[in-house]
Amino acid sequence: MAKIRIDKQRCKGCYLCVVNCPNNLIKIAKDLNSKGVKSVYFSGGKCTGCAMCALVCPECIIEVYR
Ligand code: SF4
Ligand code: SF4
Repeated sequence: MAKIRIDKQRCKGCYLCVVNCPNNLIKIAKDLNSKGVKSVYFSGGKCTGCAMCALVCPECIIEVYR
């Protein structure tokens, strides 16, 4: 199964990855990162490695491992 890694400290909280994951595997964190925004985290589960999250992230901080 695929998985992703997110550089949370560089996340600007646009949540494009959250709304574009077809399997709803990316969630909004409760705590703030160093930019003062609620970043996101990979909740685990059935990641297909489709890379939609990485493609839409304007900061290019999501890596996909297939
Ligand atoms: S690679 Fe695809 S399935 Fe996996 S977290 Fe990203 S958008 Fe979701
Ligand atoms: S798309 Fe990138 S910058 Fe936007 S919330 Fe997701 S990880 Fe953060």
